[in-house]
Amino acid sequence: MRTVNDSNFANKKALIRVDFNVPLDKQTFAATDDTRLRAALKTINKIIADGGSVILMSHLGRPKGGPEDKYSLKHIVEHLSGLLNKPVKFINDCIGDDVKDAAENLKPGEILLLENLRFHPEEEKGDEKFAEQLSKLGDVYVNDAFGTAHRSHASTAVIAKYFSTENKMFGYLMAAEIEAGNKILNNHQKPFTAIIGGAKVSDKILILEKLIDKADNIVVGGGMAYTFIKATGGKIGNSLCEEDRLELAKQLLEKAKNKNVNFLLPYDSVIADKFDNDAMKANCMSHEIEDGWMGLDIGNKAINDFIEVIKNSKIILWNGPMGVFEMENFKNGTVEVAKAIAEATQNGAYSLVGGGDSVAAVNKFDLADKVSYVSTGGGAMLEFFEGKILPGIAAIEE
Ligand code: AMP
Repeated sequence: MRTVNDSNFANKKALIRVDFNVPLDKQTFAATDDTRLRAALKTINKIIADGGSVILMSHLGRPKGGPEDKYSLKHIVEHLSGLLNKPVKFINDCIGDDVKDAAENLKPGEILLLENLRFHPEEEKGDEKFAEQLSKLGDVYVNDAFGTAHRSHASTAVIAKYFSTENKMFGYLMAAEIEAGNKILNNHQKPFTAIIGGAKVSDKILILEKLIDKADNIVVGGGMAYTFIKATGGKIGNSLCEEDRLELAKQLLEKAKNKNVNFLLPYDSVIADKFDNDAMKANCMSHEIEDGWMGLDIGNKAINDFIEVIKNSKIILWNGPMGVFEMENFKNGTVEVAKAIAEATQNGAYSLVGGGDSVAAVNKFDLADKVSYVSTGGGAMLEFFEGKILPGIAAIEE
């Protein structure tokens, strides 16, 4: 794996694809969570310390094919500059003569941030001309945007072909993500436990299928568990259910059984009479939920079952919350699972947390530094574990 660590950037202009797709406050446009900005600092600092200059390119939000003020990267300039303790220049486009001039005039130690790549529809289309124009801005291409590594866009994949092998490489973040993912995929330590939760089975089918071939235990919680429980003949009341996935859920359970994989569903649930923190609450077995009630968290016995499995695991992958953890009254299952993963990690297990909501959960419960690795890429990490080749990785490795 070629990374920025293998190069000296003295007098070189490094064009870095970062993922600065951060949430912005709707009124002030200040970044409300700067995790993604912080995640890019190490790569930027290394290049500057070598005596190189840095040109940063990113997308932000989902503009509809043209400039939109609310998605301008200008909103993060000050914040980024504060984190780097250095001025950050900004230019209000990412291609064109002015951009070319700004890049050309950049001196060693200077940092230039380009405007949102997605203001040009060519970015998401993977347009070759657009990618080539971007490529002209730097001597070296660095991809440090794991969050978009599963997209074959102009700046994430197509651009790489305009650089020679030794002039394209991964940034530190990207390298760390790949290494963490591979630690799970290539590790033969046992037991390997995958904990999958969240709202939708349909989003996680491919990863579940793949994991059945690898894991010793698959623990399923959250809203998606009820489709499985219904598939086994359970009564789930008004809990989330994807009727069109019932057959597939049955097949997955069958496959797990044939492969001797312990497929664990929540024995009991915290149920509510409406989707509301102040709803009436009760506890019952997950396959005996009456109509008018819905499972919004895993119950106490399920928590104990899950903890027991997690405690004895050597490798742990967690994606997706165990319940509606955003609501105070239905967060317990997610908290307890997160704590159990932290404890197992303390006792020597390797744990990777990936996927937007489980990452939000470990952050919310202050456990992020107690697991082995927290991934910055939701969709990208999922696709990585589905066994797909990510275009952003392939483009550098070819
Ligand atoms: P996903 O994006 O599929 O990972 O789903 C995450 C969302 O699932 C979170 O916003 C949770 O509140 C929600 N969720 C988790 N468990 C349940 C449940 N039992 N019923 C409804 N929503 C849930």
